[in-house]
Amino acid sequence: MIYDCIVVGAGINGLATAHALLQQGVTSLAVLEQFSLGHGQGSSHGRSRITRSSYTSPKYVELMQLVHGRLWPQWEEEAGQPLLHPTPGLFFGPGMSQYFQSLQSVPAVLRHIEEICPEEARHRFFPFLFPDSPKVLVDHTCAVVAADRTVRFLARTLQDHILEDCQLQSIDSGPHLHLDTTRGPMACRKLVITAGPWTSRLLPQLQPNLRPAHQDVGYFQLDPAGNTGVGAFPVWVYAGSKADDSFYGLPEFERPGVKLARHRTGPHGDDPDRAIAEQLPEAAAHDLLQFAQKQWGSQVKLVGYDACIYTNTSNEDFILDHWPGDRRIVVGAGFSGHGFKFAPLTGQVLAQLALYGQTNVPEFERHRQHFSMAAAASW
Ligand SMILES: Cc1cc2nc3c(=O)[nH]c(=O)nc-3n(C[C@H](O)[C@H](O)[C@H](O)COP(=O)(O)OP(=O)(O)OC[C@H]3O[C@@H](n4cnc5c(N)ncnc54)[C@H](O)[C@@H]3O)c2cc1C
Repeated sequence: MIYDCIVVGAGINGLATAHALLQQGVTSLAVLEQFSLGHGQGSSHGRSRITRSSYTSPKYVELMQLVHGRLWPQWEEEAGQPLLHPTPGLFFGPGMSQYFQSLQSVPAVLRHIEEICPEEARHRFFPFLFPDSPKVLVDHTCAVVAADRTVRFLARTLQDHILEDCQLQSIDSGPHLHLDTTRGPMACRKLVITAGPWTSRLLPQLQPNLRPAHQDVGYFQLDPAGNTGVGAFPVWVYAGSKADDSFYGLPEFERPGVKLARHRTGPHGDDPDRAIAEQLPEAAAHDLLQFAQKQWGSQVKLVGYDACIYTNTSNEDFILDHWPGDRRIVVGAGFSGHGFKFAPLTGQVLAQLALYGQTNVPEFERHRQHFSMAAAASW
């Protein structure tokens, strides 16, 4: 059998792409996943993510306006449940001044942002202490994304198309694309590669551009009497005064504690096949606890741990393009630490690039060159 289209990887981007392909009428479709659906080795597991439209780059602002205004609501309607849960977003820390300044040039963002002093922020967002923040920005476009519910919704629509424990091992070009997989040979007319941190295993030429970086995530109980649930607690981003001194956090669905992690970017090149530790590594635990105590007081307690991985590009721009060696192959990669919120758009874009070579999304087409292979800067 020759499939019309095969998607490699059942993370959020592979699922979103396959879902969009189905909507475009492609039924001869397979999604190959090397592990089981919802596994914890990649980037898309876990219950929650942050979404926001405040970016300092106007292209992301424009794309997020489309995603928030139209595409997430369409998914929510189809899923029959809310997937975005609005909540204030806080941006603070001594390293934010550059970010604050850059936002001034993006009027579409400024409309939704309040700038407040730390005293007012402490009053409104107890128990945050904001010890080293000259000011705090409150972003009213933020929400908590119900990440695992989104993954499950998409997977339900693709039930008959997902092949688990099926690893793509090599690709041969011919009149059709011939795939060697751990479940035997397969063939297709179009191939979309959304393999997250494993992408450069399939396409080694992308190794200089795509750098996987492990992320350690802690869950902290704050004041046991305080409400830290979704809807009651903000999402937030902190920038310290040094590079790699950024943290972020958010409330979590159906799990005790507030999620807290360091935003680890840079040209790390970590191994995505690493064994995941049973508990938070000591250095990371120390790091996160110190940060948590500084922001929320000495009563905080570590109550849980998770591991995840980013696939970083040097400028954190995604790659959404045809593969130059064979235009029947489309690549969606380099989603860095901020790709989840864009999935309703990136799925649609990748599906349409595979089917038609271009998209009917003017907001993407206007900025398309920034997401091209040619623009993918090396580290
Ligand atoms: C801790 C953490 C917090 C984050 N927070 C946010 C946030 O708040 N907001 C936000 O927008 N984004 C956030 N992100 C980023 C976002 O989650 C990622 O950008 C997104 O999940 C990337 O998804 P993906 O589908 O591209 O990759 P993945 O989820 O890694 O999926 C790739 C899939 O491909 C499969 N695969 C790989 N190779 C093969 C092969 N050869 N054959 C078959 N299958 C294969 C893998 O097993 C995997 O399932 C966060 C990421 C992490 C790690």
